[in-house]
Amino acid sequence: MSSITQRPIYLDYHSTTPIDPRVVSKVTSVMNNIFGNPSSLEHFYGTEAQSLITEAKRQVCNLIKCTSSEVIFTSGATESINLAIQGIVHQARNRRSEKKMEIVVSPIEHRSVLETCFNLEKHGIAKITKLNIKPDGNIDYSHLRTVCSAQPILLCVMAANHEIGTINNINNIGEIAKQFNVPFLCDATQAVGKVDIDFNKSNATFLALSSHKFYGPKGIGALVIRKGTAINPLFYGGGQQMGLRPGTLNVPGIAGFGEACRLRALEMNYDEKLIKNKRDKLQNLLIQLVPEIIINGDLSNRLSGNLNISIPGLKNTDLIFLIRSKIAISTSSACSSGKESSHVLKALGLSEDIIKSSLRIGIGKFTTEKDIDRSAKILADSINILKR
Ligand code: PLP
Repeated sequence: MSSITQRPIYLDYHSTTPIDPRVVSKVTSVMNNIFGNPSSLEHFYGTEAQSLITEAKRQVCNLIKCTSSEVIFTSGATESINLAIQGIVHQARNRRSEKKMEIVVSPIEHRSVLETCFNLEKHGIAKITKLNIKPDGNIDYSHLRTVCSAQPILLCVMAANHEIGTINNINNIGEIAKQFNVPFLCDATQAVGKVDIDFNKSNATFLALSSHKFYGPKGIGALVIRKGTAINPLFYGGGQQMGLRPGTLNVPGIAGFGEACRLRALEMNYDEKLIKNKRDKLQNLLIQLVPEIIINGDLSNRLSGNLNISIPGLKNTDLIFLIRSKIAISTSSACSSGKESSHVLKALGLSEDIIKSSLRIGIGKFTTEKDIDRSAKILADSINILKR
């Protein structure tokens, strides 16, 4: 990690995480030694590659408690989410009349969920209903029951938010969805590897995850699909992965993803405790040095590495510009950072001043105590410069 520490301090772990060196070793060893196509099962090279896929599936299942036949490898959470939403809608369109189908979404979902839904709405295929949430980002359970009773085709609620880190109790949400027989997509991209996720207990129909959010390689993830759920594929071709996601599998990426899952299952609880201590230390230092800062979200229920702050009166883009060479931080999610103000903070009902002065800080297992001390000082000094 030395090359990382010599560059700006990395505090954007919600955007992506550095790869664990043990995952790098696994990926490079597979790239150097195992080149077979896992679908070429007539010969040694194919079965050798296939055994890596089987092992990786087992590692994914061990982390999130699902069964191997439920795991479809994808290029990441965006693809998984598109496959689930478009897949179920197009499947239902084959069966139902021309009637528009209703999808219920939490308004603070990631853009990959919201834009997939709004695109279906734009084409007259689906009607989107937004779930009510509270000002701290927690969902309104009584509204959840009301919207589920109208029998939408799909309910989309994430396991943990990518900006304010609020953690949803997906087992309770899944229980309600099940009572009303509503398929439930849980985007668990920010939660997997940080909090306990149990697909079996969750009653989720679909669960999306992405390796690069927990120290694995980019461009690889999975959609877990509950046994017996019928969906249409997004792509057509060679019939791999039961025809749901055809195309030759990314064997080194999948092996690295599996290794990242194996390490999280072993180390997550220990690492997350340390991460929480560092986040709390940074939060306390910032409150001491800049007493007017506001912490956004639910302080008692958020990801250990999450700290979302606002400094009233300052523009976050000015602050980011000033600290750019010293700290890597973002204003909101990677796909919208610098473009428009956060839809998540807007949905919480925060004022434009608070939203425009917000920073999303993400701490992870490679963040050191020294990084925390230095970051607090750099941030406080820069805020003071801007205030003057
Ligand atoms: N969902 C959430 C909550 C995310 O934070 C992200 C990435 O930032 C995604 C989905 C998309 O993930 P990927 O980069 O694997 O497509």
